[in-house]
Amino acid sequence: MNNDVLDITPGAIAAAIGEYCRRHNCSWQPRAALIDMDGTLIDSMRSHAAAWKRMTDREGLSVPQDEFYLYEGMTGRATIQMLWKRDKGYVPTDEEADELYAVKGGYFNEMPKVPVMPGAAQMLRTLMAEGITRVLVTGSKQLSSLNRLDDDFPGAFPHNLRVTATDVAHGKPSPEPYLKAMEMASVKPEQSIVIENAPLGVESGARSGAFVIAVTTGPIPASAMTAAGAHLVFPTMPSLAAAIQCIIKN
Ligand code: MG
Repeated sequence: MNNDVLDITPGAIAAAIGEYCRRHNCSWQPRAALIDMDGTLIDSMRSHAAAWKRMTDREGLSVPQDEFYLYEGMTGRATIQMLWKRDKGYVPTDEEADELYAVKGGYFNEMPKVPVMPGAAQMLRTLMAEGITRVLVTGSKQLSSLNRLDDDFPGAFPHNLRVTATDVAHGKPSPEPYLKAMEMASVKPEQSIVIENAPLGVESGARSGAFVIAVTTGPIPASAMTAAGAHLVFPTMPSLAAAIQCIIKN
């Protein structure tokens, strides 16, 4: 079966946008796409989950590997401080947490280079052709991933339009990363489309006031994305890529 199909009907897209505009008392004039990286642009979440599992096992925790998909979007430091508080009864200092995160990052780098998410490049090309500003919004500071963006997606993400873990005091699910992205792009929430694959990222986007599109590229079901505030949920990136022009021009 061809994956590159419009899985969500134009009618469903129009209904979701209409409902969003009624609630936000706005007309539909999208100007910027604020786009997550891991699990959205690159197919990295399996490797991240495995690296998290290896590091936390080494430290004596026993966290199921799939649980790390739930924390996707949080900064590494916040994830470690939350897990250590829960499972070890104390909160590591920022410095201790950053050291542990560096170990996890090293394990990630030992794994094979992760592939680009199918459909991501096509979606970005459509956004560029339609004159939509693109802003990268990631909780990551994994340089091996950030440094390859220019090769994987030439021209898609200007260097002054990137929000990473080092740019915010509070990572996702706080709205801060997406609000920061809007400030960088000089756009209002109702002119912004967030594209996310993780519930905490969806929540961050929804709290920022943007129109939020979720893509279920991992084990988390669509119902969790809707519960987190997604206005539209696509099953794959190719299906979103096929629909993005319809969404922009609605
Ligand atoms: Mg993600």
